[in-house]
Amino acid sequence: MATAAFIGLGNMGGPMAVNLIKAGFTVKVFDLVPEAMQTLADQGALVASTACGAASGVDVVVTMLPAGKHVRQLYMGANGQQGLIDVVAEGTLLIDCSTIDAQSARQVADAAAAKQLEFIDAPVSGGTAGAAAGTLTFICGGHERAFERAQPALTAMGSNIFHAGGPGAGQVAKICNNMLLSVLMVGTSEALQMGIDHGLDPSVLSDIMKVSSGGNWTLDKYNPCPGVMESVPSSNDYQGGFMVDLMVKDLGLSQEAALATNSSTPMGALARSLYVNHGRQGHGRRDFSSIFEQFKNKG
Ligand code: NAD
Repeated sequence: MATAAFIGLGNMGGPMAVNLIKAGFTVKVFDLVPEAMQTLADQGALVASTACGAASGVDVVVTMLPAGKHVRQLYMGANGQQGLIDVVAEGTLLIDCSTIDAQSARQVADAAAAKQLEFIDAPVSGGTAGAAAGTLTFICGGHERAFERAQPALTAMGSNIFHAGGPGAGQVAKICNNMLLSVLMVGTSEALQMGIDHGLDPSVLSDIMKVSSGGNWTLDKYNPCPGVMESVPSSNDYQGGFMVDLMVKDLGLSQEAALATNSSTPMGALARSLYVNHGRQGHGRRDFSSIFEQFKNKG
């Protein structure tokens, strides 16, 4: 069976790496946080002392990092240090699953191609629950051959695998999706709170809207109102899940993308403002469904 390196073992990367192990890959891991590596070691992963050490001699490298600068530095090196593309074996396939700007993804793809290496951007949708269940949606950008070669690793971690287009296209599709998600989360939150303010039970209101024309993913899978749904961040003091800081990053990326093509995205711009404000009030590390609290009647 193939060998893989997995670098970035956070809320998403940790469970994704576990699914690679379950699918039979021999997995070498690295993260800056030792506890994150220990959790994976307990599940059968081999722990490396550096990212380059993890990536040396494997068939496929998978990365799941916060933002574009982390991805560029890791693959291309920085401050005289080698990057992954300097140390991996000939023919190693490189898959970055982080959500980053399309330009960074294209830069890394070009740098990899200059060394005869194939790289795809493969950001994901489905949240931490999808990462744990192995049901993520992968939204890939890159050349057809690399996309085909990535199938065994991607199907081990996800159930819907899309090829959006050439290098960077996966990132463009992903930020379109996350811009829409933020709008849905804000809209769902304000609608639920208005119902509560009028004396409605949020569980009943959610059941009604789920099967009515306001139905959407946040009501089906990720209700922002505490107590309505079990096993979602809102029922766990908004811990785990998808951090507000990361949503702010994605909404910044979507607004940059809109500027680049003169696209009109007023709802995305407003959602970014609301999330920036929420983060600045000290909620940056909480789950993004905590935006619900902005609508609470505190009077
Ligand atoms: P996280 O902050 O929980 O995890 C990031 C991990 O990367 C951390 O463990 C950190 O220590 C590690 N890291 C950072 N720089 C590193 C380096 N140079 N070498 C090794 N490890 C390094 O974030 P997350 O929620 O897992 O999200 C990761 C990416 O996935 C982000 O781009 C995010 O936008 C995207 N994403 C997240 C979700 C979600 O629901 N959490 C859903 C879809 C996409």
